[in-house]
Amino acid sequence: MTSCFNDNEIQHLDRDALEALQLIRFKKIVKQALKTEFYKQRLGSVGIKDQSDITHINDITKIPFTTKEDLRDTYPYGLLAVDKEEVVRMHASSGTTGKPTVIFQTQTDLDRWTNLTVRSLLVTGCTKKDVFQNMMTYGLFTGGIGLHYGAERLGMFVIPASSGNTKRQFMLMKDFQTTVVHATPSYLLHLFSEMESMGYSRKDFVIKKAMIGAEPHSEEIRQKIEDFLQIDAYNSYGLSEMNGPSVAFECEYKKGMHLWEDSYIMEVVDKEKLTPVPEGTTGELVLTNLIRESTPIIRYRTRDLTKIIPGECPCGRTHRRIERILGRTDDMLIINGVNVFPSQIEEVIMKMPSIGNNYRIVVRKKGTLDELIVDTEVNSDIISDDTRKLYALRDHIRDELKASITISPQIEFHEPGHLPVQQGKAIRVIDER
Ligand code: AMP
Ligand code: ZN
Repeated sequence: MTSCFNDNEIQHLDRDALEALQLIRFKKIVKQALKTEFYKQRLGSVGIKDQSDITHINDITKIPFTTKEDLRDTYPYGLLAVDKEEVVRMHASSGTTGKPTVIFQTQTDLDRWTNLTVRSLLVTGCTKKDVFQNMMTYGLFTGGIGLHYGAERLGMFVIPASSGNTKRQFMLMKDFQTTVVHATPSYLLHLFSEMESMGYSRKDFVIKKAMIGAEPHSEEIRQKIEDFLQIDAYNSYGLSEMNGPSVAFECEYKKGMHLWEDSYIMEVVDKEKLTPVPEGTTGELVLTNLIRESTPIIRYRTRDLTKIIPGECPCGRTHRRIERILGRTDDMLIINGVNVFPSQIEEVIMKMPSIGNNYRIVVRKKGTLDELIVDTEVNSDIISDDTRKLYALRDHIRDELKASITISPQIEFHEPGHLPVQQGKAIRVIDER
């Protein structure tokens, strides 16, 4: 295993060497996968009975996709490829319906994942001098524990605050001079909207950076966080099926997330035809984990929509970058026959200076038609202003949304802090149909 503090070389491998490394690791994963009944059948169905049947990295495209349903069907132990006594931890996805999808980790798996999280924190410029306040939920969810271990291994001073308890977050942040926070973007915006009412001001804190992830968010939301706090916010992407955070992370340039290709094989496919799309075209991200021996998962359909950013990053790292996640294939709303992603709505409303930090989208039936309602908080100054300004703002939002999504929604304004806030991932859409 590469040492976590010296993997600069791996981050800059030329593409040929990177693919050669992927092939070696992929063969090992195929060997592991063949230890499970599930993959013995799946791989066998396309003639792969031994790792020697893989000779080129493109052989991966012969293998059928693995889906969330496959993970549910094999619950609890169907994908376990090591003896149970080798397992030191399990995690699960944060889905609320049905059986969770579980993955297992051996100590080696954890070490490799932790090394990736160290790398991810380092590329954003974190150092051991930083004080890291982790506001992600600790538990089965990988967001909290995942980055915790990386931050510790890097030598940062870690405050395992977990999510929620706004008052305590502020106290810790002030008293221990937190420099880096890790949170969902929605929680971070909520937290700082409470700053003044809790008796704090920006001057009380020395925060410099935020790692934000676990939920889709627009560039406008990032900008709001950065402008309000005068910090840098880095996008962090991951999912429990692929370990958790540190599948892809933004570097100091913040121009898309480097997907760590020594540890994952990425493909982007057309969301209906499931055939590869060219770089720069949006599709569903499909991932293969190359570093986890306990729970091999090959060609996993993440349902996350993104694109590969063509060209090199100014940082010179060779691992390709993905664009921020547009949404999930299962997030797409069909409203009177029109496809709408919540992120398209967020992008429009969050550009407007009078709009507050929180919003939600409600869809309901009105007769035979679908009705779209956008509930959004507005800043207190505009509420106390002339009501004509509020009407004008409402018309303006409606026009801008019509131009973007071709639907003219009903707009409802709310005072700051009046829309519900989640401690974990934000719930932005309420579909009452
Ligand atoms: P979980 O496995 O419960 O941690 O959920 C993983 C899912 O969260 C991913 O498949 C994405 O849909 C979403 N997610 C994680 N990180 C991000 C991010 N940076 N931007 C957008 N969505 C994200
Ligand atoms: Zn870069």
